[in-house]
Parts: sequence; C-alpha cells; structure tokens
Amino acid sequence: MNISDNLHKIKETLPETVKLVAVSKFHPVEAIQKLYDNGQRVFGESRMQEVDLKHSKLPQDIEWHFIGHLQTNKVKAIVPYVHTIHSVDSWKLLQEIDKQTTSVNKRICCLLEIHIAEEDSKYGLSFETCRQMLDEGLWKQLKYAYIGGVMGMATFTDNVDLIRTEFRSLKLFYDELKADYFHDFDSFSEISMGMSDDYEIAVEEGATIVRVGSSIFGQREY
Ligand SMILES: *Cc1c(COP(=O)(O)O)cnc(C)c1O
Repeated sequence: MNISDNLHKIKETLPETVKLVAVSKFHPVEAIQKLYDNGQRVFGESRMQEVDLKHSKLPQDIEWHFIGHLQTNKVKAIVPYVHTIHSVDSWKLLQEIDKQTTSVNKRICCLLEIHIAEEDSKYGLSFETCRQMLDEGLWKQLKYAYIGGVMGMATFTDNVDLIRTEFRSLKLFYDELKADYFHDFDSFSEISMGMSDDYEIAVEEGATIVRVGSSIFGQREY
C-alpha cells in the first residue's frame, strides 16, 4: 500500500465531522508533500526543530498541529505558523503561548492535555489539577491563545475495554468542563483522542480530532 491509499482508506472510515491530523514526525517532507497533493492539509509534529524545518520547505497553507511535549523556551519559534497545540499541560505554558501569540497578533487553539492513561506519565494534567487551574480563572484573560478543548492518550495496551473506558472518561470530563466553565465559549469544542491503533474506538467515544501516524506513513525510523 502506498501512503496516499492509506490516507484515503482512513478518511473513508472517519465521519466527515472528525478532523484527521496526519502525524508526520520522523517522515520526510516528500511524504508530506505527496499527501498534500492528495488533498491532506492537516499535519502533526512533535518536535520543534523538525516542524521548524519542514514548515519552511512545504506549502504555507498546511495546518500544523503541535502534538509533542513543549517547553516554554520553544514556544516562540513555532507560534508564527502553528495552528493548534495539543499538549498544553500547565498554566505557565499557556501563559507563554498567549504572550508569544499576542506579540505576533495570531490566535492559536490550545488543547489541554489530560492524563487519562493508567500508565505513569510525566505529561498531562490530572482532572483535579485541570479544574484547579480553571477555577483560578486567569485563563479568562488570555488574549490570543484560547482553550479549544482537551487532548488525551489511552494506555498502550491490547485491552480494548480499558482503552474505551479511558476515552469515555475524557469525553465525560470534556462535557463537565463545557458545562462548568465554557458554556458560553463556542470555541471550546474539540476532543483530540485516538492514534493508529485506537482511533476507531476514540471516534465511537466522541473524538472530534484523531492523530494518526504509522497507519498512514508506515513505521517510524528513529
Ligand atoms: C506519535 C503520536 C501520534 C501518532 O501515533 P501513531 O501510533 O503512529 O498513529 C499521536 N499522538 C501523539 C501525541 C503522538 O506523539
């Protein structure tokens, strides 16, 4: 199978309302260009240097999504061309994104990364920490960065029930945040969950964005 066929196959299984982020990390610009020529416009990358280089070599109307862990000192570099950041897991990071977007007059959609997996991970806000952050209310003063929804990753496991339970918990948490904080914010609308192995479950559980890499591009060579 070539990557364009892979892309079309996945698109066929997705409802039209679900956005597909083609995760191109570790794959060359030629592969991205090929999918671009087949109509794909949304690509995801997880490392600042990599997206910086690729973005300069590829068509300017690509919608870049940053999906990896992001350090505050790297925000400035990606802000001019990134559309959505999926991995916002602290107020400090959100604040820095707002500062940098304000200085270039550009809105950026920020998704709050929520820790839903059983595995220990350094990344992602707990439900509790996330509520605390929103309760403090400072996010209401954000100017150019806005909270567009939530993002989560399920446990890496064959246990489909566990994966489903975790995605369901993220959807429920999204609903809770929508009701408690974002009732009047139409822009709070995204649930980013699901990767190559589990995106179909994620869609069944309410994902609005899926992030699919290896099922399109093949295995990554690190
Ligand atoms: C790499 C990555 C993906 C894509 O993973 P695949 O299993 O290759 O589809 C999705 N989301 C995040 C956050 C990633 O880092």
